[in-house]
Amino acid sequence: MEYDVSIEKSGKIILPNHDLYDDKRKVWNNRFDRRPAVIFECKSEADVVSAVNYANDQDLEVSIHGGGHHLAGTAVCDGGVMVDLSNMNKVTVDKERQIAVVEGGAKLSDIDHETQKYGLATPTGTVSETGIGGLALGGGFGYLRGKYGLTCDNIKSVRMVTAEGELLHVNEENHSDLFWAIRGGGGNFGVVTSFEFQLHPVGPNVLALDVMYDYKDVHQILNRLKEYMITASDEVSVNLAIMQLPPADFLPEFLHHKRVITLSGMYLGQLSREVEETIIEPLVKLAEPIMDNTGIMPYVQLQSKLDPMVPRGVSFDGTSLFFKELTDEAIQLLTKAIDESEVSTIVQLWALHGQMNRTSPHDTAFAIRDANYLLLVDGEIPDESPAKCTEWMDSLYKKLEPYSHKGASYLNGANLDHEIMLKTYRDNYRRLADIKGKYDPKNIFCHNHNIEPA
Ligand SMILES: Cc1cc2nc3c(=O)[nH]c(=O)nc-3n(C[C@H](O)[C@H](O)[C@H](O)COP(=O)(O)OP(=O)(O)OC[C@H]3O[C@@H](n4cnc5c(N)ncnc54)[C@H](O)[C@@H]3O)c2cc1C
Repeated sequence: MEYDVSIEKSGKIILPNHDLYDDKRKVWNNRFDRRPAVIFECKSEADVVSAVNYANDQDLEVSIHGGGHHLAGTAVCDGGVMVDLSNMNKVTVDKERQIAVVEGGAKLSDIDHETQKYGLATPTGTVSETGIGGLALGGGFGYLRGKYGLTCDNIKSVRMVTAEGELLHVNEENHSDLFWAIRGGGGNFGVVTSFEFQLHPVGPNVLALDVMYDYKDVHQILNRLKEYMITASDEVSVNLAIMQLPPADFLPEFLHHKRVITLSGMYLGQLSREVEETIIEPLVKLAEPIMDNTGIMPYVQLQSKLDPMVPRGVSFDGTSLFFKELTDEAIQLLTKAIDESEVSTIVQLWALHGQMNRTSPHDTAFAIRDANYLLLVDGEIPDESPAKCTEWMDSLYKKLEPYSHKGASYLNGANLDHEIMLKTYRDNYRRLADIKGKYDPKNIFCHNHNIEPA
């Protein structure tokens, strides 16, 4: 096998007989057991260029491993080149410009830890182990979305290696077509070796919302939430999750196996009696809480609070839909499906408002700027009857799709499906396909929600 030996100087080439091979090809979702022909463990931009050149020389496809968290396991491929960025995770803060320079394989925790040293943050997601690469290029929903928009809205520039192995600096002035496409178009256009993100003053302490309700109050909670969101402040974020609690030691016995609704979120503004009465209390009292741990905590702590809920190494199926409205019929169908489910599921419903919806659908490739709710469903695939989970997930999707916002899904939380992708990119798809045709005509970056080159 021939390859550019210069990569050995910093990164590693990992072939199937290498000790690290099995570990390196693992992704967050244990459902996928794919075997790349070669893994390039990159430590520099030169390593990434070598990996792409090698793929071109050998006529192989490329998968890009950022944090390895995509539901569809797209970080790893069978028989191709896997570009592993997990060692490219450096973060540098330019305090004067309020910019963070973040390497393409960083995790969200790498960013928060560095930026919070200066009381700054960029909007990311809610689980600290997630990779910034996939999250930012596919959108990026976190607790700062109402005030500062999606993660992709905060990208100021990127450095990326194209399908031809060329290293480009991409921003509003240079390769502006590519700059538009990467903000929502995922990993279709090349390997992002580093991002520049806009930073904002956040924390270091914030008010973390943390309430648990009985699932029996689901209808009241959703109806009150709909009312609340009509006038919600940009500074607040609200994420609901419906789940059955495990019989874990850290939970009081009365909660074992109980189905509950959790509310997590954050309030970013200054606290006052008025804020507590008009913004916080109505949320805590969506119904009578079983538990209320709402309180001040460091932003970095809030950002990793949910990590234990979603460990690596479990097999998951999932689905996602945006909604403009939560109609009574849609809520009935959702709760009926939850009641009938025989698999362990986490059903999340995130309220969307504020800055993230003020960007025009055509300003970036991320087209969904007019939805008010995002439904994200994850189900654990049971070893003994894997079909149970997939059948339940498919049936839920089919029932809810007619009530959704034109069938659009959050692609970062959806299985690969061409129809769903078309419904989500809407009329941005044609432009994305043109740009794909210009920068990756042979479609070597095809392990993703794949945009076909025009
Ligand atoms: C536990 C968990 C929690 C999550 N929480 C949130 C959340 O709060 N908010 C949210 O918005 N999303 C969330 N997600 C979804 C998340 O945005 C996606 O899983 C995303 O793909 C993760 O990025 P990654 O780099 O870890 O993934 P990977 O699987 O490594 O990458 C996914 C795809 O992104 C592309 N890619 C990754 N890095 C690069 C790069 N540097 N250059 C070019 N292309 C790249 C590639 O096409 C790759 O196939 C969560 C997912 C999980 C599993």
